[in-house]
Amino acid sequence: MTQTKKIAVIAGDGIGPEVVAEAEKIMKRTEEVFGYSFTTEHGLFGGIAIDQKGTPLPEETLSMCKSADAVLLGAVGGPKWDNNPKELRPETGLLGIRKELGLFSNLRPAVVFDCLKDASTLKPEVLKGTDLMVVRELTGGIYFGEKFRRESASGEEAVDTCTYSTEEVERIVRQAFEIAQKRRKKLASVDKANVLETSRLWRETVNRIAPEYPDVELEHVLVDNCAMQLLRRPSSFDVIVTENMFGDILSDEAAMLTGSIGMLASASLGAGAYGLYEPVHGSAPDIAGQGLANPIATILSVALMYRLTFGYEEGAVAIERAVAEVLDAGHRTSDIAADKSKALSTAQMGDLIAAAIRK
Ligand code: NAD
Repeated sequence: MTQTKKIAVIAGDGIGPEVVAEAEKIMKRTEEVFGYSFTTEHGLFGGIAIDQKGTPLPEETLSMCKSADAVLLGAVGGPKWDNNPKELRPETGLLGIRKELGLFSNLRPAVVFDCLKDASTLKPEVLKGTDLMVVRELTGGIYFGEKFRRESASGEEAVDTCTYSTEEVERIVRQAFEIAQKRRKKLASVDKANVLETSRLWRETVNRIAPEYPDVELEHVLVDNCAMQLLRRPSSFDVIVTENMFGDILSDEAAMLTGSIGMLASASLGAGAYGLYEPVHGSAPDIAGQGLANPIATILSVALMYRLTFGYEEGAVAIERAVAEVLDAGHRTSDIAADKSKALSTAQMGDLIAAAIRK
């Protein structure tokens, strides 16, 4: 009998609850089809948690996540909280939850569905066959370094520090090599080793451990060049591994290859199988509450959860195939629809994908 898995669900703000509801629908359907068994527990996080509990990451939400096997997250944030002090901002909760759960890597697959290649701003022939994964370091680098202001002879100065230890680089690079081994066996390590000391340590570390993965073809790419090559030859990339800030920027660039941010899933992992799964997009306050959100990014995040945390490959493939089938049949939410008058609602898209899931 399948062991029951505990999922912590944090819907968050804006379109978060709408897209998470569709992802839960998909999980239910896979329980019926594949005999999986899940229990879900819901917690407050982000802006809604600030309003109700006075903090973006309440202690009870954190302990709920820690005691679960995996976390499914919608999105957080919105204009209501934009001018709050740092400790009362939804984004502070995001950085906090990653740190508290020890999630040091963020995986973002960018797959161009053939039937959607016209939705991208790039030419279809450039995009053809693009299927890449950005592995971004998530808990180090300049986002977490010391920050301060000081007076200098020429006026006020601001300082952000970027720090990486060998251990931090090694654990993420190993994970990227292992992911590459399960894919097309190509790894691009992205840095700025011609300028930054942290990048030189990064590159040395990559070169030191590369011989342990002789089946993976390694290339080093400077970040500025990578930004260019992602637009010029996206299909030549397999796995891209990079530090926190470079990964933040490159993964958004890779996102646009697919045509809509509403299509992109992500996984945040630590040392073991435990993971937090969420769409790449934010809370989209401009369309919240109208049934316009594309739920596919969150639904594909469930597929990643099945694959990476539970080893439910059959379920993962079934979800991905159902998404492809529904898109191939011409069904679209308004963000990817050529004719917006025929676009489906969030729930209609979720229903169609759920119905298309089979063994
Ligand atoms: P966003 O991703 O929320 O929205 C950008 C644009 O994409 C908007 O026009 C939106 O309508 C559209 N969009 C996003 N997701 C969509 C979907 N599923 N279907 C259809 N269209 C979709 O980014 P933003 O506007 O820069 O940020 C809005 C809020 O979200 C901010 O408060 C920001 O801090 C927060 N944010 C949160 C996360 C997160 O929770 N991980 C990530 C990014 C931004």
